[in-house]
Amino acid sequence: MARSPQGQKSIAVFGATGSIGASTLDLIARHPDRFRASVLTGGKNVEALIALVQHFKPDHAVIADESQYEALKSGVAGTSTIAHAGAAALADLAAAEADVMVSAITGTAGLLPTLSAVRAGGVIAIANKESLVAAGGIITREAQRHGATLLPIDSEHNAVFQAWAHARHDEVASITLTASGGPFWSRSLAEMQDITPAQAVKHPNWSMGQKVSVDSATMMNKGLEVMEAVVLFDLPEDRVKVLVHPSSVVHGMVQYRDGSILAQMGAADMRVPIAHALAWPDRLDWDAEQIDLTALADLAFHAPDDDRFPCLALAREASRRGGFAPTVLNAANEMAVEFFLNGTIGFLDIARLNRHMMESMTAGGDITLDDIIAVDQDTRRQALAWLSER
Ligand code: NDP
Repeated sequence: MARSPQGQKSIAVFGATGSIGASTLDLIARHPDRFRASVLTGGKNVEALIALVQHFKPDHAVIADESQYEALKSGVAGTSTIAHAGAAALADLAAAEADVMVSAITGTAGLLPTLSAVRAGGVIAIANKESLVAAGGIITREAQRHGATLLPIDSEHNAVFQAWAHARHDEVASITLTASGGPFWSRSLAEMQDITPAQAVKHPNWSMGQKVSVDSATMMNKGLEVMEAVVLFDLPEDRVKVLVHPSSVVHGMVQYRDGSILAQMGAADMRVPIAHALAWPDRLDWDAEQIDLTALADLAFHAPDDDRFPCLALAREASRRGGFAPTVLNAANEMAVEFFLNGTIGFLDIARLNRHMMESMTAGGDITLDDIIAVDQDTRRQALAWLSER
């Protein structure tokens, strides 16, 4: 794939039909002088992918669901876009030359495309936290080996990345990720018993895909983010702090050993961190909302509550145990969220299934990609068995 002319950056958007994909494409559409979409991918939603192809005219479009290949092919007929389908095409095109690969497929399905872009030595703007949790060691090792650059898009990690600036590792005492607390921060456990999927996907501050919205409601999202931060910033879990900050203005902080704290603030809009990653190392003027600090009621911060939101503590435990524990917890949680969204289990059962899978896992030795995929698949099978035994 040829580089774009006239200094435009070519952007390959993996997960283009999703929420992060939409925010990324909004920025690309605002800056045709600076960016062009070179690859767009979808999972199942072929109609949405075709509409994006018509608008952005990428070189390649991939639909993961192979049964939709003919629909994609006929939908892009008459354009210069080449249609592809399936997981192998996703991995191949992730390795194709683009200036930035945006990794925004949800769940572990994003792992192989991410790894493929990493092995091609590219710049990866990574939103797909599940890959970093399931296979963080492999991704960072391969990134070093192949000279790839990982730029975090997840707002808290992007905030830490910005506040870290050029500091040496030993100058940093700890980092802090903020959490909004999700829609149920002020509810008791008894009140959480009957939460419905429709209530759980309604986040108070952020507009996101279903999986990450449910993760925010259980605070597993913050747990995944702690594990993600351990990988990205090479810090032990106890130096990755979490504070509940309901107004979602401060997204992340770096506490330095000399007593300074640098924080990044911004509107609760994913285009802020995405713009930072797309333009990096420059800054993009994209007409961002500037926060009026005088209009803020408060900047309160609270300690998390592990009794009401046990998923965060489970994630910390997985991070301390290491080995396959993060892979198991991540796969168990993906299954639990799916069961919850399709109405098979209750909201509080998500943490129950996650704990059950963590308790029944066995320790592993050396970890290869094949081991991770096998453990991921095995955990999903066991989660189904847990469900049918209930
Ligand atoms: P969405 O559910 O909105 O979008 C997910 C994207 O992944 C869609 O393009 C979907 O395609 C695609 N997809 C789903 N399953 C597969 C599969 N098996 N193979 C290939 N593609 C697939 O999710 P978000 O955009 O909200 O989140 C994306 C990632 O970013 C997640 O890892 C999330 O944790 C992370 N993230 C999201 C944030 C947010 O604000 N949304 C914030 C920080 C991180 P289709 O719809 O066509 O099936």
